[in-house]
Amino acid sequence: MSPKNIVKCILCDMDGVLRIGNQPITERIQSIFYYFKQLKIQPIIITNECRYTNHKIYEDLLNMDIIDKSIDIPLITSANVCKSWLENYVYTNNNLYSKFNVCVIGEKGLKTNINEIKSVVLNVNNKYCDNLDTKNILVLGSLFNYTQNQKQIINEWLSNPETLIVKTCDDYTDPEDNCILPNTILKQHNRTAHINTGKPDVNYTKEIQKLLKKYNLQNTKSEEIMLIGDSMNTDIKLGNKMNYKTTLVLSGNTKINDLGSYTYKPDYIIPSISNIKLLV
Ligand SMILES: [Mg+2]
Repeated sequence: MSPKNIVKCILCDMDGVLRIGNQPITERIQSIFYYFKQLKIQPIIITNECRYTNHKIYEDLLNMDIIDKSIDIPLITSANVCKSWLENYVYTNNNLYSKFNVCVIGEKGLKTNINEIKSVVLNVNNKYCDNLDTKNILVLGSLFNYTQNQKQIINEWLSNPETLIVKTCDDYTDPEDNCILPNTILKQHNRTAHINTGKPDVNYTKEIQKLLKKYNLQNTKSEEIMLIGDSMNTDIKLGNKMNYKTTLVLSGNTKINDLGSYTYKPDYIIPSISNIKLLV
């Protein structure tokens, strides 16, 4: 059944859906957002990108004519989710530890978010701390390049089994192909993360729900929310978990022949976001 006239909110992935690198996926993407506005559909951009600040991402999307200042389009990055997760972790565990020693291996977007946390017990630091009353947390984001210095720091932190490992993204490939992902680094060390703050993790869905509340959309039924994404294991998985309507676009990470290797399916498949008017 077509979801036409039902959808009230569109959760839209960014890379592979709206743009690849600094190129818009298609011309006139802005017109799609005008169309959503006409239909009173609230768009929200949800991305596992954490290298850039929200400010820089907005600036880039404006420069690429993907968005327009006249339309309010909130943005959630996995760096924003990481900040919320860490704030909450410190708040709920401050009876167990007197200090939280946090090493951030990431770019400006991630570092800015973590540095915004106001807590006297949280210390951002590259040195592992041996005190028993200190919780050591390693936050791994996506990187432009992986320096020798970062390798040494990660070696030290990952060699200690007590380190709590947080990653900002569960992807294994990036449509841009020039970024070093947390999973790539962890695989080299034969380690896995304890916490994921990227899609499809529950930490991410909590942030989406917070934003829906802010936009008075908290009572929206799950079938009235559509998620558009190009990655099966992050976007479509999250959408299916939440019972949202899911639309896979074939303009990014996933090709039609890949679908057979997944046990779950999107509700709809379209070549690119420019075909979304067929569905909403
Ligand atoms: Mg994507």
